[in-house]
Amino acid sequence: MELNTIGVVGCGLMGSGIAEVCARAGYRVVVREINEAFLQNGLGRIQQSLGKAVARGKLSQEQADQAMERIQGTVYLADLGGCDLVVEAAIENMDLKKEIFAELDKLLAPHAILASNTSSLCITEMASVTQRGDKVLGIHFFNPVPVMPLIEFVRTILTSDETMAITRAFGASLGKTMVTAKDTPGFIVNRLIIPYLLQVVQIYEDGLATKEDIDAAIKLGMAHPMGPLTLLDFIGLDTTLFIADAMYDEFKDPRYAAPPLLRRMVLAGQLGRKSGKGFYDYP
Ligand code: NAD
Repeated sequence: MELNTIGVVGCGLMGSGIAEVCARAGYRVVVREINEAFLQNGLGRIQQSLGKAVARGKLSQEQADQAMERIQGTVYLADLGGCDLVVEAAIENMDLKKEIFAELDKLLAPHAILASNTSSLCITEMASVTQRGDKVLGIHFFNPVPVMPLIEFVRTILTSDETMAITRAFGASLGKTMVTAKDTPGFIVNRLIIPYLLQVVQIYEDGLATKEDIDAAIKLGMAHPMGPLTLLDFIGLDTTLFIADAMYDEFKDPRYAAPPLLRRMVLAGQLGRKSGKGFYDYP
């Protein structure tokens, strides 16, 4: 089956990146946000990211313009009805994702594939509200999507071989490297990185060291590209908390229990880069 039009639900940090890489690979893209302000914000982020790619010589201005022209923004889910594959990248909340999956299942043609970019939630539960369990899977991109080379595919016990083959060809067309994981919370990457990030917040809250020293220790001592508190600001503290809570719910393992400071920062609206303040300030 040929994929021509890709739908993306959500034009936040991840949705805008997913829309951009699909458009750059030549797909037509329809991206849906909940209101015009969020949509314009997301489309602006794509434009900015394409501009950066041009400035770095990765793309010509003409290619960037063509990519932007392939993207249609909308606030109506119904506009995704003609898509061959939809990647849901709304916030990390199961009730919302199930609502979106149930609606899309009714809107989409029978051949269409439904994917979630969830970081931790159960794909089988999302498939359960549709009549197309064999065509549902996780396609987990990494942030920033245009730069990070990995896609984690999440295969449920219902996902068909055909769906896996079509989506692997899609991943390859985006120039990504792919790994496949079972449908368990956190898959490969977050299963390992989330307990580590939670531990970092805990030692910071305990006063072990300053945030700058914690970041410098890991960046310079472990040759990581950025320190863990900078990484948390980059991922989004709300997203990290959602993932930790989902993993704790499933495993009931204290390694996945969010430290009090993380929850309080999220309650206070300190979400990291996207809100202008997290562990660091982003004026
Ligand atoms: P975000 O908050 O930046 O963006 C989410 C967007 O979804 C918001 O703009 C919101 O308005 C929109 N939205 C909410 N309900 C919607 C609906 N019904 N229809 C359309 N849009 C809707 O969050 P994000 O970081 O982009 O995360 C999105 C998803 O990707 C989450 O499931 C998250 O776990 C996952 N993810 C995040 C990262 C990361 O590093 N941030 C990495 C991989 C996967």
